[in-house]
Amino acid sequence: MSGTIPAKKGTSMIIGILGAGQLGRMLALAGVPLGLHVRFLDPTPNSPAARLGEQIVGSYDDPELLARFAAGLDLVTYEFENVPTATAALLAEHVPVFPPPIALANAQDRLAEKRFFQQLAIPTAPFAAVDTQADLDVALDIIGLPAVLKTRRLGYDGKGQVVLRQREDVEQAWAMLGGQPLILEGFVPFVRELSILAVRGRDGATACYPLIENTHRDGILRRSVAPAPELDPQLQALAESYATRALDALGYVGVLTIELFQTEQQPALIVNEMAPRVHNSGHWTIEGAETSQFENHIRAVAGLPLGSTAMRGYAAMINLIGDLPAIQAVLAMPAAHLHLYEKAPRTGRKLGHVTVCADDMPTLLERIAAIEALV
Ligand code: AMP
Repeated sequence: MSGTIPAKKGTSMIIGILGAGQLGRMLALAGVPLGLHVRFLDPTPNSPAARLGEQIVGSYDDPELLARFAAGLDLVTYEFENVPTATAALLAEHVPVFPPPIALANAQDRLAEKRFFQQLAIPTAPFAAVDTQADLDVALDIIGLPAVLKTRRLGYDGKGQVVLRQREDVEQAWAMLGGQPLILEGFVPFVRELSILAVRGRDGATACYPLIENTHRDGILRRSVAPAPELDPQLQALAESYATRALDALGYVGVLTIELFQTEQQPALIVNEMAPRVHNSGHWTIEGAETSQFENHIRAVAGLPLGSTAMRGYAAMINLIGDLPAIQAVLAMPAAHLHLYEKAPRTGRKLGHVTVCADDMPTLLERIAAIEALV
């Protein structure tokens, strides 16, 4: 493998990362064995990634700071999808930016995102743009109830959205969210939530990880299991066809995550949204896959050959949210791997995760239950 890494790139390449949170931290960690260096830009001092590389502290829309950040970098990537598109465009004048800024534009606006998938004949929930209360009435007539009213931008972890079950819910939902660009989506009667992580190299080579089953509580991801239990190979093939279509349409480079609903009707997979970055539902890949999502993202953006996305068995990720469990007890669990992000405890905040591995699904499920009893 060493022969395929040009000496210059392996030893002195510097990758700029917008955002220095836990994703930036795990990206940087994956770059270390490859001899890659990182520089972060993040407005919060002493971010989780800061000890792994130089962190420039400041705003993403300060042109002078961006020029200082970009100086000497071989390329720029990012760990969050709300990077201002103007920032990405400005940086792209100086240095290659991967994934391509067009992916940011599509992922930041739920309406653009849904239209993007629609153009590729990839199924989504029925949707309509809602800017006024009159728009909402029209959209409800077309889409019907139940439905979900969401802000088009900056929603995350279930924030900025309201489920409408009956007409009486409409007024309150409008009072909460009205006055900003919204989207109304039909409520998808899903049996479970899945995600697929796909990676595309600079040369167009593409690979997908197995479908992951995700469990949320209070809008926050709690647990991911890979491969998704009782996974039908046809479902995997369908998810991969969605992912490769999206990657190719965007001329994408890096890891792309697509969140999906599995339904009992056809189509069996409906896209909810995409994230143009490494994703919380893929953290298990550090121990559970031949090549982690972080290493594959780094390999892709650096123009290196992709690594195998095959699993090394069965794996699950359990998020540590709000406060930390007894560390000793977690580490005493068989095949458990602890990742702390060095963030101050706060309600609803992701402070770390535990990955647990096993050689078979029944053992994995037992180990998940034992760890969940601690957290
Ligand atoms: P989102 O911010 O779009 O990822 O939505 C957060 C969560 O709300 C999802 O993980 C689903 O559990 C639920 N949800 C979002 N949109 C829909 C929908 N159209 N139908 C059913 N559930 C949804």
